This record gives sequence, structure tokens and C-alpha cells, in this order.
Amino acid sequence: MSISDNLQKVRATLPDSVRLIAVSKTKPVEMLQEAYDCGQRLFGENKALEMRDKHELLPKDIKWHFIGHLQTNKVKYIVPFVTLIHSIDSLQLLRVVEKEAAKNNRVVDCLLQFHVAKEETKFGMYEDEARELLESEEYKSMSHVRIAGVMGMATNTDDVDLVRGDFKHLKCIFDDIKKDYFAKDEKFCELSMGMSGDYEIAVEEGATLVRVGSSIFGARNYA
Ligand SMILES: *Cc1c(COP(=O)(O)O)cnc(C)c1O
Repeated sequence: MSISDNLQKVRATLPDSVRLIAVSKTKPVEMLQEAYDCGQRLFGENKALEMRDKHELLPKDIKWHFIGHLQTNKVKYIVPFVTLIHSIDSLQLLRVVEKEAAKNNRVVDCLLQFHVAKEETKFGMYEDEARELLESEEYKSMSHVRIAGVMGMATNTDDVDLVRGDFKHLKCIFDDIKKDYFAKDEKFCELSMGMSGDYEIAVEEGATLVRVGSSIFGARNYA
């Protein structure tokens, strides 16, 4: 199957309300260009320098989504052009994004990443940490970041009920946070969940953004 076939297959399963992020981490720019030539404009990367380098080489109307763990010392490489950072997992990280965004005279859209998987290994906040962040005076004074929703990863398992439960949990967190902090803010609208193995379940549970890599570009040698 070609990238074009794969893209068409994935797109055919998505309702209009859901946007597809083609997760191109580790893949060469030629493969991204192929997806671009099939109309794909949203790409997801999880390494700051790799994303910066690809941004320099590829067409400028691509929207770059940062989906991985973001180290504070790497924020500066992506803030000048990133469309959405999915992986805000601390006030400390948000503080650095705010500072770099101010330097670039930008307002950067961000998602709060939550830990919903039944595994120790995944990054993300718990709800009480996120509430602490949102209630802090420091967050309230920030004017160069905008929280646009939430992101999470389900447990890596074949147990579809467990996966569905994780997505339901994330949707509940989205609804709670929306109600308590963003009720009048229509920009807070994104629920980023679902990958190659589970995005169809995520869509059923309310995802607005799905992050699909290997089903489009093939398996990765490393990730
Ligand atoms: C790699 C990655 C994906 C895509 O994974 P696939 O299984 O290849 O679709 C999605 N989200 C995050 C956060 C990732 O790191």
C-alpha cells in the first residue's frame, strides 16, 4: 500500500468533525512530501529538532503539531512556527512556552496532556495537577499561550474495553475542565486522542484530533 492509499483509507473512516494529524516522526521528508501531495497539511512530530529541520525543508503551509514529551530547553526551536503543542504536562513547561512565544510575538495554542493509561510509562498530568495549574496566578497572567483542549494516550493493550474506558475518562476530564475554566471560551474545543491502533474507538468517544502514524507511513524502526 502506498502512502496515498493509506491516507485515503484512514480518511474514509473519519467523520468531518475529526481532523487527521499524520504522525511522521522518524520518517524522511520525501514521505511527508508524498502525504502533502495527497492534500495532507497537518503533521505531528515528537522531537523538537527533527520538527524544526523538517519545517525548514517542506512547504510553509504545513501545520506542525508537537505531540511528544517536550523538554524546556527545546521549546525555543519550535515556538516560532508550531501550530499546536499537544503535550503540556507542567506549569514549568507552560512558563517556558509563554516566554518564548512572547519573544516571537506569538500566541501559541497548547493542549494539556493527561495521564489516563493504566501504565506508569506515559507522560501527562492528573486532574488535580491541571486544576492547580489553571488556578495559579502565574497561568492567569500569561498572554502568549492559549489552552485549546486536552490530549491523552490510552493504555497500550488489545483489550478494547480498557482502551474505550481510558478515552471515556479523558472525555470526562475535557468536559469537567471545560465547564469549570473555559465555559465561555469556544477556543477550548480540542480532544486529541487515538493512534493507529485505537483511533476508531477514540472517534466514537469524541476525539476531534486523531494522531495516526504507522497506518499511514508504515512501521517505524525506532520511535
Ligand atoms: C507516535 C505517536 C503517535 C502515532 O502512533 P502510531 O501508532 O504510529 O499511529 C500518536 N501519538 C503520540 C503521542 C505518539 O508519540
